[in-house]
Amino acid sequence: MDLVVRNGTLVIPGVGRVTADIGIAGRKIAALGSDLPAGARTYDARGLFVLPGIFDPHVHIGNELSFEHEAESETRAAILGGVTTIGIFLRSLEESYFDHLPGFRQAMDTRSYVDSIFHPQIFTEQQIAEIPRYAEQFGIRSFKFYMSGMPGIVNSVTDDVLLDGFRAVASLGPDAVACVHCETGALIERARGTLRARRPQGTLADWEDAHPADAEALAIQTAVYLARLAGVHLYVVHLSSRQGLDVVRSWRRAGANFTVETTTPYLGITSHDANGFLVKMVPPVRTPEHGAALWEGLAQGAINTVGTDNTSRRRATKQPEAGLHGARPGLPVLGTHLPALLHYGRERNVPLEVLVARASANPARVYGIYPRKGAIAVGSDADLVVVDLDRERVVRAQDLLGMSDFSPFEGKTLRGWPVATIKGGVIVARDGKIVAPAAGRYLPRSANCAPPQLEWFNRIA
Ligand SMILES: [Zn+2]
Repeated sequence: MDLVVRNGTLVIPGVGRVTADIGIAGRKIAALGSDLPAGARTYDARGLFVLPGIFDPHVHIGNELSFEHEAESETRAAILGGVTTIGIFLRSLEESYFDHLPGFRQAMDTRSYVDSIFHPQIFTEQQIAEIPRYAEQFGIRSFKFYMSGMPGIVNSVTDDVLLDGFRAVASLGPDAVACVHCETGALIERARGTLRARRPQGTLADWEDAHPADAEALAIQTAVYLARLAGVHLYVVHLSSRQGLDVVRSWRRAGANFTVETTTPYLGITSHDANGFLVKMVPPVRTPEHGAALWEGLAQGAINTVGTDNTSRRRATKQPEAGLHGARPGLPVLGTHLPALLHYGRERNVPLEVLVARASANPARVYGIYPRKGAIAVGSDADLVVVDLDRERVVRAQDLLGMSDFSPFEGKTLRGWPVATIKGGVIVARDGKIVAPAAGRYLPRSANCAPPQLEWFNRIA
């Protein structure tokens, strides 16, 4: 063995908690058991929990600095925070992704600390027509659509175009996934206009009125309907509201098989937050009532996965002083993803096994990389995060090692932090420091003949 992690309490989704050693040979887990023979190196995890590396399926890279720069800086924050794989929403508003995919891939193969998969965001009919070739040439099995658009950033997609896109994704096979930002564009535009007229100034709490929960709920209603029509597996990204969750539950009762994600900002930050416009995002962080509903949905299984929607910014471009309408959306949250989940999850008494299932195993399953990722099993990649559930730290942006000079959790004390992250059999982060070079890889995915199964997700260890 190259590395033996000794005496940790392993948290294995579907199995439970087991105190055991993990033997690692090369990049893979080679043995599990007690009293494994000594390896070249040892990590003593006594008194600590060992989780499968966290897979954040919802990350934006390169929205502020270049893709190449953020591929390094933001994945450094990720690995320090226990995230070992990310799903990146690529953006090319007009050009074919063939112009950009080789460069994106090269960046993730040479600069990233974590492994990655891609979800291209589809905006044009040309891109829809090219979906089968993106799949074939780059091993991509998931694509994202915006229903509402984002004013000044991306355009709305009408239902006919959305349906064409869903059908193109469905044509790849039953495992292919259509990710959708669910907000109804017309309702958002009206709400934004009304808010701008009524409240030229305002507080963070007012921002919720620009993106009403009903616009999310209505869009989920439409997206599930269209996905069923097209026969595609729908993945609702960043669910933010109780009303949206109600629609999810009613479709599930009707037998619809689709996946729902929320994000740690919605689980840990409210619209009353003292950091004000520093925590402005789209959809908005909402009142505590919504957060409580999302936690219940996450614990009980209506919400299957949790990511971040990380969009790193600096204060100077975030511009919180530009107020309600001027501050830009987007939060740097990769480095705080796992600590926030552990801290707020334990406040709500959500079992660690459930948090790990939602943050690691389930996204790996739905995106077709399980059990290579998301598991602690012989043959799986040796991607592990060792956590100290009792460690308390005040969040400070400069400790997170990303490019941002703020964190939406700035100044908050979170309890439960990673003390080491092992990626591909190598200890890359330890005690708040990076101790090995970046060695992440882009992961092309191959077709699978089975659709994602919700039974897996809902089983709680
Ligand atoms: Zn996003």
